[in-house]
Amino acid sequence: MKSVDAHVADILDVVVPLPSRSLSLRSAHGCVLAADLRAGSALPGFDNSAMDGYAVHIADVADAGPGRPVILPVTGDIPAQAGTPSPVRRGSAARIMTGAPLPPGADTVVQLEWTDGRMDRVTVTRAPGLGQNIRRAGEDVAVGDLVLPAGRLLGAAQIGLLAALNVATPVVHPRPRAAVLSTGSELVEVGETLGPGQIVDSNSHAVAAAAREAGAQIRRLGGVPDSPDAFAAVLAGVLADVDVVITTGGVSVGAFDVVKQVLAGSGKVRFEPLAMRPGMPQGFGVIDGVPIFTLPGNPVSALVSFELFVRPALLRMRGLASVHRPTLVATTAQELRSSRGRRSYLRVRLAAAGAGRPPVAHLAGGQGSHQLSALAVADALLIVPEDGADRPAGTELTALRLGDDMAPFDSGVSWSDAGMAADT
Ligand code: AMP
Ligand code: MG
Repeated sequence: MKSVDAHVADILDVVVPLPSRSLSLRSAHGCVLAADLRAGSALPGFDNSAMDGYAVHIADVADAGPGRPVILPVTGDIPAQAGTPSPVRRGSAARIMTGAPLPPGADTVVQLEWTDGRMDRVTVTRAPGLGQNIRRAGEDVAVGDLVLPAGRLLGAAQIGLLAALNVATPVVHPRPRAAVLSTGSELVEVGETLGPGQIVDSNSHAVAAAAREAGAQIRRLGGVPDSPDAFAAVLAGVLADVDVVITTGGVSVGAFDVVKQVLAGSGKVRFEPLAMRPGMPQGFGVIDGVPIFTLPGNPVSALVSFELFVRPALLRMRGLASVHRPTLVATTAQELRSSRGRRSYLRVRLAAAGAGRPPVAHLAGGQGSHQLSALAVADALLIVPEDGADRPAGTELTALRLGDDMAPFDSGVSWSDAGMAADT
């Protein structure tokens, strides 16, 4: 059987960052910068006051001190507003607000607290240093500075810096548009009444949520019956408008495994059992330039395979360099069996074990591939190697930490760009 690592490598060989586009700041939030960004303007853009106070000539106030007040006529009042203020002459002062442009002539700002704050003539009781309380043009960013390198994820501070530099439409890798659908004639949309033998289509919601957390824009198509024609029609209808397709179900060896039936013969999608548990049956390929992940139907298998295969691909499409979950070392709380030839990903909760010691991994509940409740309370996927050697309690193993990347979702990039319905 093919190893998990070989499958990940095959996927990351094929999947590349999406072509860059200029997006609004709103839409670029959570995207990755596609090119180095050099400053086209300086920050601050002009010399300005760092404090509310008085703009002065240093020579006029250098001797101020306790018991030696200096009194200057106030000849101007400069708020933070558009325009160039009038000069300040020797022997006078101008009231100035934080952020207001420094008037010509002045070389220092005395903060309000060192004065009596009057508007007609001001008494200065402490001597500032030359240039005190002035923010110099370009002291934060100079024209031509490399402020954000290609590959930088745009979070709040980066979006703020772009706006400050008057960059309205940075060039980024857009979020992947992901179509999510599940297959199964037994499936019913959540909220509907179940008949005998029917189950709620939880996979399309779970996978859509996982893909959204991984930064994708979602088109959730819901459940498609196990009919080759129906599946082929839904797939054909969506390929032109998406960057990636994720399906669940219908990939194993059952009589109605529709995804495999429709796609295996195409030569574009490879179906192969992977040496893992849960999630052995998997398919991956590219149709009309669109990567397609066909995940198994059992809910835990679907989400664990999403973690291992789809999430890295989505992060790569977004242009992120680091695409894997952080790992950690945990100590097993109980003996764990290794399944020879198949790497296990156990759903565990982590308990702190004290300073300097790895956390202890407790099974989060039933480990069947249908037992979603354990995954829903798990902190991590504990990896039990496929070497067949059982691990006694207290063994250190590697785990993948889950769920620390709630992405800033609802990106504001509308599906209507692509003629599609909104993210549901
Ligand atoms: P399959 O891979 O299509 O044979 O599906 C395996 C099992 O996973 C099914 O018997 C269902 O119990 C379950 N399953 C498949 N699709 C879904 C889904 N969309 N939501 C919840 N459970 C599912
Ligand atoms: Mg099925």
